[in-house]
Parts: sequence; structure tokens; C-alpha cells
Amino acid sequence: MQILRYGSSGSLVELLQLALNRYGASLVIDGVFGGATQRAVRAFQAANGLAADGVVGLRTHRALQPWYTGYRVHTIRPGDTLYRLAAQYGTTVRAVETANPGIDPLSLRVGQRITMPYGFAVVPGSVRVSSALVDFCLQGLRARYPFLGVGEFGRSVLGRPLWRARVGTGGNVVYYNASHHANEWITTLLLLRFLEALCAAAAREGGIGGRSAAELLRTATLYVAPAVNPDGIDLVTGALSQDFGTRRLAEDYPDIPYPAGWKANIRGVDLNLQYPAGWAQAREIKFAQGYTTPGPRDFVGEGPLTAPESLALYRDTLSLDPRLILAYHTQGRVIYWNYNNLAPEESLPIARQFAAVSGYTPELTPNESGHAGYKDWFIQDFRRPGFTIEAGEGENPLPLSQLEPIWRDNLGILVLGMVVTK
Ligand SMILES: [Zn+2]
Repeated sequence: MQILRYGSSGSLVELLQLALNRYGASLVIDGVFGGATQRAVRAFQAANGLAADGVVGLRTHRALQPWYTGYRVHTIRPGDTLYRLAAQYGTTVRAVETANPGIDPLSLRVGQRITMPYGFAVVPGSVRVSSALVDFCLQGLRARYPFLGVGEFGRSVLGRPLWRARVGTGGNVVYYNASHHANEWITTLLLLRFLEALCAAAAREGGIGGRSAAELLRTATLYVAPAVNPDGIDLVTGALSQDFGTRRLAEDYPDIPYPAGWKANIRGVDLNLQYPAGWAQAREIKFAQGYTTPGPRDFVGEGPLTAPESLALYRDTLSLDPRLILAYHTQGRVIYWNYNNLAPEESLPIARQFAAVSGYTPELTPNESGHAGYKDWFIQDFRRPGFTIEAGEGENPLPLSQLEPIWRDNLGILVLGMVVTK
């Protein structure tokens, strides 16, 4: 992660402030590295054997790792018991046992290394998304819940991993994704939070959204790609140290706010206009609207699947062969369920069930955005239920205050999606 110091700003500073607060500070999370943040960094450094210079470089980031990810590897010392350790970390014996399958609480060995989760949730609701946040969340979730699989399905233009998580063992394979569009990053938090809630419910043998988590995971194998466009997210939330030429591309579109209006990948290609389903029609429509060059949004690219992020998701979807997909976007509280009348018969009834649990409205995609999207391609080539869910209301990027209502509205859809096609 980049060096942060007095005067730095953006979502990485928010992440730093979150970590310092988890450690014990009480900073306002505003993404501005000012005097209070600098004092908190110095105090942290002094207490952790680091030079207290107030600059967050490699060593300080490394020392903060447990507070970014929510766990620490602890080496057992004489006198340690799981009960005492759990109390010390603000967690429960059960959470420690979940993170360390097969551990025998009655015969801890001195020198044995165990994963100690903290008591706070891994996925925050108070910081904007960055690719670093996604990395930390998945690392933290995998440590707490070893039954969660995490791997890469590709790399972004800037070489960032495109993560895909897997949970469950059932035959009903479903695949959810979020943040094709950079300034719709709040959907990444929605899917990460769902993963955490689902894993936590499974670990305590409890329920989620009115269903048994164990039953859900026996029925379905859920794959989640929480951030299809990590570079674009970093641009929008101020987590990049340079602009990689985006500012110049944005100059061709002076009416679109920069970088807040950026939806595309870092090369100015709209990742949800990249799929081989009416791509030429999408090109015609978008060119007529004036989106003829790489820019913040709506540029279809030089050809279908020319952006590595879309190509990677396309290939991953082919290899997983899911029974149902959900593609998360923001704006309008609607559910798009069809493409060119190719959706199977079960799609509309499922959209109606989603509507019943969310309050969202099933709709047909407006023609101007009716081609070359991920769900369009999925419906066309698989003839299975595929949905674009437009979550939340207001202008993108939606503020973090929308996360709670989006979570409440969508929990039912996320749970139902795992079982509705079984
Ligand atoms: Zn979108």
C-alpha cells in the first residue's frame, strides 16, 4: 500500500483511520490525514516499537495488518487458554475454534501458532471501497472462516487481482458479482457483507434471511466476485497515487464529474458494454449518444471482451457454468430480468419473488442500455435466469449512508438466489 502522511487523503486514509480506531483511537473517519490522524499514528508507532514519525510506510502498514484484516497469528505461550485468549481479543471461544479447525482446547502446545480473530466485523460500513480494502476483507474472512475459498479469476489492467470467493458445497451453483461500474462501489460492500454474514451464520449454526445457513450451503455453491473493476474503484475513491491518463480522457466529456462520474475501467472502457450480446448494437447506440472515445462511461471498447476484466469474468462464468447469476449495480431499485425475450420461463417469476422480498420493481431494460451487458450475454448464451439488480437511490457514487437500506432490501434476494433455481 502507498505511503500515507500528513496531507494525504482518500479511501486509503479512511482505511487507515478505521484501523487506528479498531486499535483504540477515536478518529472521525473523513479520509483526511490531518493533525488528529498524525497523533494517532505516532501513538500507534510508539506503542509498537516503530519510529514515531507519523508517516505510514511499509513497516507501519505491516504492523497495522491485524487491524486491517481483523485477525492476528498468535503464538501460544505458557498459561494461555482459549478462554483467556478469546477474552483478550474480545472474541469467543467458538470463533477461535472456527478459525482453527481441529484445535484441541485442552492440549494447546507452547509455540503452537493459531489464528486469533478480533471481536469486530471484518467488513466495515464506514469506509469507501478500495482494492486494498477488498484484499484485506477477503484475507480476514478466509482467516476467520477456513471453509471460505478465495482465489483470483484474473487481473485488472493495473495488475490487481480479480478476486472470487466460494462458499458452500451444494449442486446449485450461483455466481454473484458487483462493481462492473467504478462509481457503484457500494455494491462491493454489499456482497462482502453478505459473505461475512453467511459465514458467521454457518459457523454458529444459525440462520440468515430466515433460512438455515447450513441448509443454504448444502444446497448451493455460491461464488462471489465482489469487485470486477478494482482500478476504477481506486480512481473514484482517491486510492491511486497517479491518474494513469484518465484525467485527459475525461476532458472529452466535460459534463461528467471527474472522478465521481467514472464508471469505466482505467483505460476508459465501460466493462458492462463489453459482452458478446448485441455489442454492435450497443456500439451504434452509444456512438449516436456521443460516447465515441475512451472516457468515464459508456464507451464500448474496440471490440467485445477487449477489456481484461470483462474477459476474465466471461471466461470464469463459462468455466463455473452457474445456474443463476446476479450482477449488482446501483440506481433505481429495479430488477432487470430479460434480454431480447431470451430469458427462460422461470425468470419473471423469480424476478417477482425478488421483488416481493426487496420492494424493488421488475422491469425491462431500457433500449439505450439494453445490449452488451453481462446479464444480457448470460441470458442469451445460457438461457438461464440472470439479473441485473439496480440497488439504492440517488446519484452515483451513493453515499455510505445508503449501505444499510441497500443491505436490508437485498438480503432476501441474496439468500433466495442461492435456492430459487434448485
Ligand atoms: Zn452500473
